[in-house]
Amino acid sequence: MSTKDDFLKYLCQTSKEPLGLEISRAEGSRVWDNTGKEYIDFVAGISVANVGHRHPKVMEAIRKQSERYLHVMVYAEAVLDVQAEFARELCLASPIKDAQAYLAVSGAEAVEGALKTARKHTGRTGFVSFAMSYHGDTFGAMSVMGRKEMREPYEPLLEGVKFLPFDDTESLAAVDRSTAAVIIEPIQAEGGVRVPSAGFMKVLRRQCDETGAVLIFDEVQTGLGRTGKMWAGEHWGVAPDIMVLAKALGGGMPLAAFVGKRKIMQELAMNPPFSHLTTFGGHPLSCAAGLAALKITKDEKLAQNAAQLGEIFRNTLEGLKRMGLIAEVRGMGLLIGAVMKDAKTAGAVVNSARELGLLVGTAMHDERVLRLVPPLNITNTDLITGLELLTKAIQKAGGK
Ligand code: PMP
Repeated sequence: MSTKDDFLKYLCQTSKEPLGLEISRAEGSRVWDNTGKEYIDFVAGISVANVGHRHPKVMEAIRKQSERYLHVMVYAEAVLDVQAEFARELCLASPIKDAQAYLAVSGAEAVEGALKTARKHTGRTGFVSFAMSYHGDTFGAMSVMGRKEMREPYEPLLEGVKFLPFDDTESLAAVDRSTAAVIIEPIQAEGGVRVPSAGFMKVLRRQCDETGAVLIFDEVQTGLGRTGKMWAGEHWGVAPDIMVLAKALGGGMPLAAFVGKRKIMQELAMNPPFSHLTTFGGHPLSCAAGLAALKITKDEKLAQNAAQLGEIFRNTLEGLKRMGLIAEVRGMGLLIGAVMKDAKTAGAVVNSARELGLLVGTAMHDERVLRLVPPLNITNTDLITGLELLTKAIQKAGGK
């Protein structure tokens, strides 16, 4: 039996067509398979490897922490210096004034926490979410997922969720005094990299202020420099009440958080206490890696880098429209969506790219869209080479 056979036989699969690439190593913006073939990585673990794979400073932080302690105590009982330091740096970097952070393991777990906190704070039950949104696959997170066919097999889910069209200002009147929280990705990633208008985001903030609904930004994919600003909300000058983070937060280690205004977050300690716990949330190794990753993001000016490289990237894609297969180019910074003429073409580009040595993926809710999210510190050479391979892949998929 080969490793691939074990993978298919013993690892519960989530689709009939897993990528199935046998990985042997990853470094910076590159990944190698078990035959030694090298790939340029425009997937980055789906917006996880913002600082690249195995950044030396992240590796050093993990090594050092591993020599001190791993898991010792459940979340927020013992004082773990690395956890407290990480929470401080995260709160100070966040767009929320006087913030506190609850550390979790995965994005979905952090979304659950944010939704629960909003209910406890407001004493209301309703949630508002948007069509085509993705917030994770646990029951609460799935209840606010903006795609009916994904929710249906698991119903009944949470009651009282309203789904509004994304970027439709008039529909925001549905946010009212029964709304505990509105949850939104400032740029919808899995929905096909959809960027809202500034007016929409501003009206959303105002509507939440007027009704007392908690505004939750799911910045799991958009945060930490990905869109050319540290937080995507900055593009519209809008700050949330609670922000959810995961993916790139741990520099490649599992780490998530919801960061919110102190007066909202304090609810979790009472009525009753111990009603939102986690064993592994804010694992010391993950916090050490996360602390290093935050510092790298600031020191290496990765948001600025994402803005500059993103422009080159999008201009190149605009140029490739002449090949006839790209209908539209969307996104900000290095969160880029290339809308292909149909899902079949997008799939063909993904496959040819892989054969040529480039990893790209499609957005989960809209498979016509190539989701292009390289590490934010990708070198110019790798970016240009990757774009050349992408051009070839489009040619192979029938582009002229
Ligand atoms: N929110 C967004 C915007 C996401 O893209 C994802 C994962 N793709 C999640 C939440 C869920 O994160 P996780 O897979 O870590 O549970």
